Amino acid sequence: GTFESMGLAPWLIRAIRRKGYRLPTPIQRRTIPIILQGADVIGMARTGSGKTAAFVLPMLHKLAAHAPKAGARGLILSPTRELALQTHKVVRELGKGSTLRTAVLVGGDAMEAQFAELAACPDVIVATPGRLLHHLAEVQGFGLGSVEYCVFDEADRMFEMGFAEQVKEIVGRLREARQTLMFSATLPRSLADFAAAGLSSPQLVRL
Ligand code: AMP
Repeated sequence: GTFESMGLAPWLIRAIRRKGYRLPTPIQRRTIPIILQGADVIGMARTGSGKTAAFVLPMLHKLAAHAPKAGARGLILSPTRELALQTHKVVRELGKGSTLRTAVLVGGDAMEAQFAELAACPDVIVATPGRLLHHLAEVQGFGLGSVEYCVFDEADRMFEMGFAEQVKEIVGRLREARQTLMFSATLPRSLADFAAAGLSSPQLVRL
């Protein structure tokens, strides 16, 4: 399989080449086609597998294919500030050929700069759970009811770090009609239960 044969938009293929990717990695080959078809997916993959592009590429393809709407349509949750910043960088680089706007909401940075990012109506938000909830509590008119595509990245780490309740609180604010993806290196019982509640007939991709 190639990126072209997956049906990704030409502007995305150009972004992929700019990043220097030639062929999809195994996790990308297995997940991108079913994500493009609209399925919920549990991807069991670790850092280094190319998992970030596996969820970012189909997200950008889908969001750019439809006219912009009010409110964020893509949400990526990361366990740590470092991972969120790194993922946001990938979203920006791969999204360059589109008009999609992005914001990153992480702890450790001033709220004020992030208020400005939210005021600019991002299409995609990359966030850590605590800081996202903080903004939801503080910012009038900011909600998650518009999110169509939601990713829980490194979900096992998110739960290990004690964010399970916050993640569940965030899921409770999402609309039912959405596509949900979960990436995790391991699948402990607590995460399997979470996936059963938060994902709809998920396809398990295990390398
Ligand atoms: P990740 O597992 O998402 O953290 O990605 C690990 C590394 O692989 C990153 O440096 C990516 O830029 C790189 N990468 C992702 N997809 C590909 C690909 N298809 N070909 C070559 N490198 C890739």
